[in-house]
Parts: sequence; C-alpha cells; structure tokens
Amino acid sequence: MSSLLELRGVSKTYSRGLINAQSNVALRDISLTLNEDEPTILTVAGESGSGKTTLAMLLLGFIPPTEGQIIYRGQDITKLRGADKLAYRREVQAVFQDPFAVFNPFYTVDHLLTVPIKRFKLAQTKAQARDKMDEALTAVGLRPEDVLGRFPHQLSGGQRQRINVARALLLKPRLLVADEPVSMVDASLRANILETLRNLQRDHGVSIIYITHDLTTAYHIAKSIIVLYRGGVMEAGNVDDVIKSPQHPYTRLLVDSIPWPNLDQRWGETKIIAREQGVGADGCPFQSRCPQAMARCSTRPPLFQIKPEQAAACYLHSENPEIASKRLTELLPV
Ligand code: SF4
Repeated sequence: MSSLLELRGVSKTYSRGLINAQSNVALRDISLTLNEDEPTILTVAGESGSGKTTLAMLLLGFIPPTEGQIIYRGQDITKLRGADKLAYRREVQAVFQDPFAVFNPFYTVDHLLTVPIKRFKLAQTKAQARDKMDEALTAVGLRPEDVLGRFPHQLSGGQRQRINVARALLLKPRLLVADEPVSMVDASLRANILETLRNLQRDHGVSIIYITHDLTTAYHIAKSIIVLYRGGVMEAGNVDDVIKSPQHPYTRLLVDSIPWPNLDQRWGETKIIAREQGVGADGCPFQSRCPQAMARCSTRPPLFQIKPEQAAACYLHSENPEIASKRLTELLPV
C-alpha cells in the first residue's frame, strides 16, 4: 500500500535573537503515515501552544521542518520543484479558522472561485468554469444560485466557510488540512460543516487532517486522534477509546472540560495543579500541571501501548509495552 503523506521524525524549533538566542521546540519527533488508498480523517487536538498550527504550516509547506522529513507521494516536500511542486500545491489544500479572512469584500463569490480555476488551468471555457463551480458548491451542500454573484457581507459565516471548502474541493485535493474550521462558525452551523467534511472523505476520497482544540467536534468527525501538548504526542489512538477512556492526565483534563449533557458527570472534576517552576527539556512536558507527577517524570516518557488502538506517553502506564513514535500510525484506525 503506497503512502500519500508521511511524516518521518518531524521536529520544528523556532529560534529568537542573535545574542543569547533562545529556542522553542514547537513540535517534537512526530511520525505519521496516511495511505493513498484509505482516505481518512485524523484529528490533531490540543490547546493553544500545543504545536497544532505549526503542524498545519509544515504540512502545507509554508515552513520547513528543523529535523525529519515530510514525504508526499514519495517525495520530500522541501525538494519539490516545477510541475511536482504545482501538483503538491493543488493536491494539498487548506481550510482555516476564519471564514471571513480569505474574502475580499469588493469581490463576489465567483471571483474567489475563479482564481484557482485560472491559476491551475482547470477549465478551457467560461461554461466549463461555471460547471466546476456548480459541482464544488453542490458537493458542500450549497445551491449555486444562492451564493454565486453575491458579496461576502451577503453570506452567513457558515456559507462562507462552506465556500472555502468548495474552493479547496475545486482543485480535487488528495489531502485537506482543516485548521479549526468550525471554531468561528455559529454553533448551529457547525454540524453542517463537519458533515460536509465527512462527505468529502467518504464520497470524494479526500483525506483530512482535522486540527482542533475542541474534543466534541473531534469525536463527531474522526475515527482516530492524536493529542498534542507542547509539541509532543501525549496520547493517540481510536477516538472512542481516547475520549471515553482517556489515559493521559492531560487528555483527562481536556475531556473533563467538555460540558457533556450528563447530569451525573461533574464538569471540571479533575484537579489540575499549576506549579511555577519550569520543566526540564528532557522531562515530561506536562509535569508542571500534572497532579500525579513523580520523580521519574523528570525524564521524558515514551509512548506506552495500553490497548490495541490506544497509547499514552505517561509513566502511569509503564507496565505496558513501549511503542516507538515512528509506529504511531499502527494505532490509528482508518
Ligand atoms: Fe504526569 Fe508523569 Fe504522566 Fe507526565 S509522565 S503525565 S508528569 S504522571
């Protein structure tokens, strides 16, 4: 089975200042594979500063990794040139958080959709271009006659975000990087957009990396999840196992902050302590907030495989076998 996308031990460090330069590890040793023949939705979850957006920027080729490689269909994306680079730009698309940012208030929706059609020469005639727009808008559940010819202020946030998805879909992407696509959309429209993304994966064979801080949306959209904290994988696996039975104290904290409609479950039960001292670069990154921290947590824990489809990087599970980070994908259902 050939891989669509492979992250091989990818790390990203940002440095600041020339004298007394300081460096900040935004992402540490991430390995991951998405297969060509098994389109999937993978959630990458974490709070701000966890490395999620750095991961999105790396996947889109906006920044290079400091260590490791990102391989797209057999080629290192930092080495792509000419037609290969153009194909990568077309096949890997993004939908960002802000459905308003990509719209120029002076242009209609048609303009936004025409730009990629022209840039990537997707149509020879105006009629073909219009057919492509109609097809993409219909695929995301919009009626072309409701949105074409309209200006951004005449559309709802949900319509704008679906137009962003349609714009990506025009290019027949193989991979969509969706970075917090529903966080700025009204709650009533979120389910609609998530369903649109699911349809893309199911009906159009698009793999999606769904990046979010919101575990409830992750639960509804994906089968597999990776939880990041300070650039490292804290827990990963089947979304059902990870959210219903989180094994890492950080995932427990995230799950505990979800207001589930269950009156027996008390919201905010998990006690999280905050110590002021910094964490050694080699220690567990969650150490300063972890109520169960112990002496051995001053060395970074490996991933321990707890179930066939669940692993956590925490010494509380050290009776389980270790799993190398490069084998992470084996835990993730498609
Ligand atoms: Fe807490 Fe230690 Fe587990 Fe880190 S390794 S989450 S500090 S118990």
